[in-house]
Amino acid sequence: MDKNRYSMYGIQIQEWLALKHGIKPLLRTVIQPDDVKNIEKLCREDGLFYIVKPFSQLYLTKFDSPVNVIYISKNKDLLERAYQSEKSGSGSLGARKIVGELLGYPSCCVEFYSEFFSQPYLKDTKFSIPIKTYSKTQGKPSFLVNNIFKLESRLSSKGLEEYQKNPDFADRVSHLFLISHVPCSYTCKESIKMGREMLDLLEKEEPELAKEIVFRLKRPLLYFDDFNWLIFNGRVNGNTINYTSILPPLSLMPEGLVKKFREGSEVKVGKEFVDIFKNKERVHRIKKKDKDNGILFNFS
Ligand SMILES: [Zn+2]
Repeated sequence: MDKNRYSMYGIQIQEWLALKHGIKPLLRTVIQPDDVKNIEKLCREDGLFYIVKPFSQLYLTKFDSPVNVIYISKNKDLLERAYQSEKSGSGSLGARKIVGELLGYPSCCVEFYSEFFSQPYLKDTKFSIPIKTYSKTQGKPSFLVNNIFKLESRLSSKGLEEYQKNPDFADRVSHLFLISHVPCSYTCKESIKMGREMLDLLEKEEPELAKEIVFRLKRPLLYFDDFNWLIFNGRVNGNTINYTSILPPLSLMPEGLVKKFREGSEVKVGKEFVDIFKNKERVHRIKKKDKDNGILFNFS
């Protein structure tokens, strides 16, 4: 299997650039032990410091065998502070907030994200963070903060397992983002500013990736859950999408279902059903599991 060409030893290139150019003060991610040597070399070249620490539990997620977390920054003190907060406060709301702030996330978004872990949301398998974010959105969702494909930041342990079990899927989507945090809404001003900064930087450093990201993120998206969604090459009008094709990447949605959408040219998203039309005639009707299932995100 081909590794995502924008990933360097498990770190996405935009995360690295954000750190190198001072958009973000700290990078933190789970890595494979084999990658440490290579990352060390990259750090040396770019004047960055790092520490690697094992965790057998991170917040509410327990691991069968410890995972390695790497912290990278220009500022040596930040590394230890982030590690100590996560180690001593694993599971606590306070630790999440401190680390969110150390990572340079907007405080409105840190607050929003932390809220989920103080409530029994995580036990609810139907619960979806993008739908919560969307419900707080007033006005047009901005593609600059489209985080639908940035899954690692919001999956609970069960979802994370599913994600890791499907490396091809992870490879298809993991480079498609401009912000790495969960925004408090798809119109969050602070997040949009970060997304814009990231895009400006990518346009200079990785113009092809910048183009690819804008092309995928700035599209209507029909969202069922984190593993089931479709990107449309088309336009939204109210609850209707008129489209010419379904764009890659594909989610884990069953092929038969994707095919139904490919057969149409118009989708109407209702409260109970998603209807697919071809030449004004309905060709398929899909029953929604509930009202939060099948939501149209009009990113532009
Ligand atoms: Zn925010």
